[in-house]
Amino acid sequence: MLGIGKDFYAGTDQGRQRRGNEDSHFARRPLFAIADGMGGAQAGEIASRIAVSVFEHGLPDLPGSCEERLASLVQDANARIHELSRTDEERAGMGTTLTAAYLHEDELAVAHVGDSRLYTLRNGVIERLTRDHSLVEELVQEGRLTPEEAEEHPQRSIITRALGPEPHVLVDHFTRRVQAGDIYLICSDGLTSMVKDEQKLGELVMGSATLREAGQTLIDAANAAGGRDNITVVLFRIVEVAHGEPAVPVDTDHTMIGSGAPTVQQVRAASVATAVQNPSATEAARRLPRLPATGEAPKRRRGRKTRRVLRGLVVGALVVLPILGGAWIASQSVYFVGTDDQGFVTLYRGMPYELPGGASLYSVNYTSGVPIGSLTPKVKGTVTAHKLRSRDDGSDLVKQIEQAKLAGQGGGP
Ligand code: MG
Repeated sequence: MLGIGKDFYAGTDQGRQRRGNEDSHFARRPLFAIADGMGGAQAGEIASRIAVSVFEHGLPDLPGSCEERLASLVQDANARIHELSRTDEERAGMGTTLTAAYLHEDELAVAHVGDSRLYTLRNGVIERLTRDHSLVEELVQEGRLTPEEAEEHPQRSIITRALGPEPHVLVDHFTRRVQAGDIYLICSDGLTSMVKDEQKLGELVMGSATLREAGQTLIDAANAAGGRDNITVVLFRIVEVAHGEPAVPVDTDHTMIGSGAPTVQQVRAASVATAVQNPSATEAARRLPRLPATGEAPKRRRGRKTRRVLRGLVVGALVVLPILGGAWIASQSVYFVGTDDQGFVTLYRGMPYELPGGASLYSVNYTSGVPIGSLTPKVKGTVTAHKLRSRDDGSDLVKQIEQAKLAGQGGGP
């Protein structure tokens, strides 16, 4: 008989550049989930928390397969988030990814929306089981971007499907037959955008003595690579369970390892095995434009080393600033059309590039009400090409898209 081992891991980390953590996760055998929220003013944190909270009472007692019941919970989460975003102005436009897995006997039911991911490691081989609902993955599927181009694409973090924006959402769901020894990894894009090599992810897990060590190693690797986003990792293992033991014990406790100190209420909530929520508040929007490094390094140990670093920075700045200044001035006279963090067609001033450290060479000039997902593939292609344009040209294009949308033509010139 198969079950889930006791040594599962669930942890989250703010990363090195965000000022809060908008990821949430749920880890109570036999059900595991990760949600990665988006939206300013803490809305992303709220969306992801609502998403994982739907698992608190397990699967609903409804007819249907585990897979269908799991997917119906994801629909419930969508409805709750959408309702709140509709009725609360401050939460308008919030959304979240959600990737959930539930073990029943020797089958793992999976439900998934967005760009958090589920991987399996079987016999030392890592395989991704979910497909990202992201702009770049769609373009890769259509053969218009190579996977390598997708990794460097300025809009790689735009997702095309999320819980919250619409009253109904299309949920990917499937069932997978598991084997003893399988390891499953669910993670937010804060891991996979920093450690892009999937083989490397597999090696880091396989090279660890325990899943706890593996989880911490993955988080450390994402931080070492820049830690530009919140990082959340869930790992569990399929094991043989002796007869007489419950195949899938229901946990009354779970691991909670994350950034920041949880509040008393959160510790208490965790100890009674409710949904695990990320412990810190946030105000950073999850998607474009990305925040530059916040520079919130510990203030201790200043002194000679700091001065030496400062001197180096001054010399470096004398050389680099005129070049950057020129690039900046040049960038401000051009425009391009793309999508914003919610996927709406947007006119940007500047160039579609980012400087090392995450500072971008563009700013929002105008955001339309037209979601990229509603456009025809041709128009979508025009929007995602990020061609440099004059201001008039760029705003004409956005206007045409808006007008075509109003006329019900599914978008575009
Ligand atoms: Mg993320």
